[in-house]
Amino acid sequence: MYDVVVIGAGPGGMTAALYTARSNLKTLLLERGIPGGQLNNTAEIENYTGFSSIMGPILATDMYEQVMKFGIEYDFGAVKEVVDRQSYKEVHAGNKIYRTRTVIIATGAEHRKLDVPGEAELNGRGVSYCAVCDGAFFKDEPIVVIGGGDSAVEEGNYLTQFANKVTIIHRRDELRAKKILQERAFQNEKINFVWDTVVERIEGKQSVEAVIVRNVKTGEVTRIATAGVFIYVGLLPNSEPFLNLGITDAEGWIITDETMATKIPGIFAIGDVRQTVLRQIATAVGDGAIAGDYAFKYIETLN
Ligand code: FAD
Ligand code: NAP
Repeated sequence: MYDVVVIGAGPGGMTAALYTARSNLKTLLLERGIPGGQLNNTAEIENYTGFSSIMGPILATDMYEQVMKFGIEYDFGAVKEVVDRQSYKEVHAGNKIYRTRTVIIATGAEHRKLDVPGEAELNGRGVSYCAVCDGAFFKDEPIVVIGGGDSAVEEGNYLTQFANKVTIIHRRDELRAKKILQERAFQNEKINFVWDTVVERIEGKQSVEAVIVRNVKTGEVTRIATAGVFIYVGLLPNSEPFLNLGITDAEGWIITDETMATKIPGIFAIGDVRQTVLRQIATAVGDGAIAGDYAFKYIETLN
C-alpha cells in the first residue's frame, strides 16, 4: 500500500512527488513515457524563475534527478483506470494494480490535431508537433507553423535558427500569444504571417511539399510550398482514464478546489490536466506543491 501514487512525471507530478517524499510519504511516480512531460517538447524556456534561459529537456532531467534523490519509487506504466475503494484507491496500469491511500493526477495535456487530409499520412515526414525534436531536419528550408497561441509563436521563433523562412498561418487577424512573444516574432525578419487563413490539406508524396490554404474572408485558395508543417493549435486533456470517476468538466478538464482536491476524497489533480486559468511550468509546479501538502494532510485524517 502506497501513501501516494502520482500519475505523470511532468513538472507538476515531479514536484508533487518531491513534496510527498519530503513528508516521508511512501510515494510512487508512474509515467507512460519519459520524465519531463511537455518539457521534452519545448525548446527555450525564459519564464521559469531562476533560469534566464533553459532548454526544456535539460530542465526535465534536472527535475528528475532532484526528485529521485528523495527515495521515491519510479515505474513505467500507462494508467488505464483509477478505482475509488473509499479508504484506499486502486491504480490500474498495464497488468499491474497499485493500492494507495491517495492519488495525484498529473497527466497533462496533448497537442490537438488539425484534422485535415495529409496530416496523419505525412506525420513524421514533414508534419511535426515538436520543434525541439524535429526543427534541425529543416536546415535552410521553408517551414510553416499553424496556430496563433504561445506555442505557435514561440516555437516559430525557435525554428528560424534552422529554416530559411517561417510562415505562421493563423485563422484570425490577431494573435492569442503573449505580447512579448508577438513582438519578437514581428521583429524577426525570417518570419512572415498569413492571416485569416486555414489549412485545407497538406500535400506531398514522400514528404511534405506544400499546404493548401483558404482565406476565410475572401475564400481565396492558395498553395504554399514548404518542407515542414509544425502544428500548434491547442491542447486536449489527458483525462480519459479518469472519466469513470466523474471529476471532469464537459471538455474533460479535471475540476479541483484550491487545495487541488477533486470531489473524491483522496484524489487530487494538478497542472495542465486541471480546469485552470493558466497552463505553465510555474503553475504546474505550484499545483504540485499544494497537492503534495494536502495529500499529507488528508492521510493524517485517515489515521
Ligand atoms: P505535462 O508536462 O504534460 O506532463 C504530463 C505527464 O503525464 C507526461 O509525461 C505524460 O506522458 C504523462 N501521462 C499522461 N497520461 C498518462 C497515463 N495515463 N499514465 C501515465 N502517465 C501519463 N510553459 C512555460 O511555463 N514556459 C514555456 O516556455 C512553455 N513552452 C511550451 C512550449 C510548448 C510547445 C508546449 C506544448 C507547452 C509549453 N509550456 C510552457 C507549457 C508547459 O510545458 C506545461 O504547462 C507543463 O509542462 C504542464 O506540466 P504538467 O506536469 O501538468 O503536464
Ligand atoms: P492555445 O493557447 O490554445 O492556442 C491555440 C491556437 O491555435 C489559437 O491561436 C487558436 O486560434 C488556434 N487554433 C485552434 N484550433 C485551430 C484549428 N482547428 N485550426 C487552426 N487554428 C486553430 O494553445 P498553445 O499555444 O499550444 O498553448 C497551450 C498552453 O501552453 C497555453 O496555456 C500557453 O500559455 C502555454 N504555453 C506557454 C508558453 C510560454 O509561456 N512561453 C509557450 C507555449 C505554450 P484562436 O486564437 O482563433 O482561438
